[in-house]
Amino acid sequence: MLSKQDIEDTLSKTLLPAPSVIYYFTNAEISLKDRPNTLVRGIQKSGADAIYLNAKSPKSTVLHETIHNVGITNEQTTRLLTRILYARQTFGIIPKLRRKNVQYTEVPVSEEEKLSVLHDMGLYPENASTSDVKLVKLVLVE
Ligand SMILES: [Zn+2]
Repeated sequence: MLSKQDIEDTLSKTLLPAPSVIYYFTNAEISLKDRPNTLVRGIQKSGADAIYLNAKSPKSTVLHETIHNVGITNEQTTRLLTRILYARQTFGIIPKLRRKNVQYTEVPVSEEEKLSVLHDMGLYPENASTSDVKLVKLVLVE
């Protein structure tokens, strides 16, 4: 289960700019409306400075979506960069790159905001009703 701490640690060990907002679904399998039965690990909407994750995703998904968030849309390039950056983290070649650790603060998400996130991103819960979906919102502490 991907935690807030995992996300902060992953983003503290890269020089990629941390997304301003991170949403993550903690209790539901989420799919794309236009591609049913395809579970979403993460998604990024270009120009939004926000990424969306599923808590069941691996840590590498945090990097993958953060790479998209800096404007790299090509999927192959993103996968290659993710592999390189994730390997560097995993093998501990660069323990600390930033002067200060990346930190997020959790802010409450209203039912209305949750519904609009699902709608705007074209997402739906696979085996749960929308009202059961739990969405956590993290805002970057500058
Ligand atoms: Zn991608």
